[in-house]
Amino acid sequence: MAQKRENFTLGTKTEIASRSGYRCSYPKCGKTTVSARQHLEGFENTGVACHIYSAALDGPRGRGNLSSPEIRSSKNGVWMCSEHASKIDKNKGADYKAEVLQQWKAIHEHQIAQEHLNVFHPYGWIENIEIKSCPIFENNQKIDFQKLNLITGNNSTGKTAICEWLISLSDLGRLTRWGSAITGIPKPEKELFKPLKFNINYWAPNKQNLKIELKNGNTAVKINNNTTPFPSIKYNVIYLSFENNIENTNHRFQKKLGIDLVKLANITKHLNKENGIFYRNGRWSQSEDDDNTFNLTCKFLEGPQRSFGLMSSSEQFFIMLDFMIARASIESKQSPTLLIIELEGLTFSPQRYRKIFEHLSAPSTPFQTLITAYSDDTFDEFALWHRTDIIKSENYSSQNPVYRLEKRSQSHL
Ligand SMILES: [Zn+2]
Repeated sequence: MAQKRENFTLGTKTEIASRSGYRCSYPKCGKTTVSARQHLEGFENTGVACHIYSAALDGPRGRGNLSSPEIRSSKNGVWMCSEHASKIDKNKGADYKAEVLQQWKAIHEHQIAQEHLNVFHPYGWIENIEIKSCPIFENNQKIDFQKLNLITGNNSTGKTAICEWLISLSDLGRLTRWGSAITGIPKPEKELFKPLKFNINYWAPNKQNLKIELKNGNTAVKINNNTTPFPSIKYNVIYLSFENNIENTNHRFQKKLGIDLVKLANITKHLNKENGIFYRNGRWSQSEDDDNTFNLTCKFLEGPQRSFGLMSSSEQFFIMLDFMIARASIESKQSPTLLIIELEGLTFSPQRYRKIFEHLSAPSTPFQTLITAYSDDTFDEFALWHRTDIIKSENYSSQNPVYRLEKRSQSHL
């Protein structure tokens, strides 16, 4: 018996194609799929509206948990040239998971929207980090990045280490913790860390390969295999961490955000106009007992005006997150940007997570995000993630605590 296919209507196909500018969404392809017919009236279209979750019950990538209307909606469609349309469905779609296609769709639609609005964005993208050798992980492991990425693991399993290595794209100073190598002054043998060696593959906007090796008092930096004192292409990495020991002071707010007061005041004005995900309508005032401290008073969603210092730690997190997202959006107009957020022990309701994730993965959000967190079942329900778990290696022992990175598929296959 023939199985029912949930095909897109012509209107939905047109919507999927239009959102993509009739260009292929496969990374770096961007092929135009529509043109005038040669010597004839009319036009020719070689593009395909591909299903992310499958139109047929036994099709590539399965049905997820989607209802029939969801399968037929434009949200479930990604526009491809004919070559890439057949490529992604080969092997039952096993090589191209649903969440990968969702991310490609988001990136491509964002690019097209930017072009359409004639807004220049210095387009950049971190593809992956290859960990060649290091003290905490098994050798030769790789983390692929999409638009919104999650790394989960228990305390002291190397989440912050990965963040620090990524920050080396914009600031080599963050490698200091990895031994005296950064200073060029060798420490006594026993204090030396094991060698650290990693590569970051990224686009800015052309393809770049950053190789970093810390060994015997030396930090060797190479870009595209050429030795350089430091990476000279501007890549912006913004870092925010939330340790559990939150002091409820506004001073901390300023310090955590790592931005000067003028920028902070201007971001506040910007946010007062645009609204954050949670932040509304705030103002800064000088503290009565300390000249160097400024207090923020604002609303949390539609609640009353309150002092930041008197909010709960999760409310403080959401307000600071809004400031960081605003900062990343503004700075990504000047240089490609990665926003890193370390949640540490903070956990929220699924609704709150959903609001943040939807914002960070939306086509209109012009930067990549990496969030690190303790392992939590709550994350399992979100398909928007590109997720990596840090787990104990088979060679793990208390003398040799070494971990492995495991790619976690979020699709419902
Ligand atoms: Zn293509």
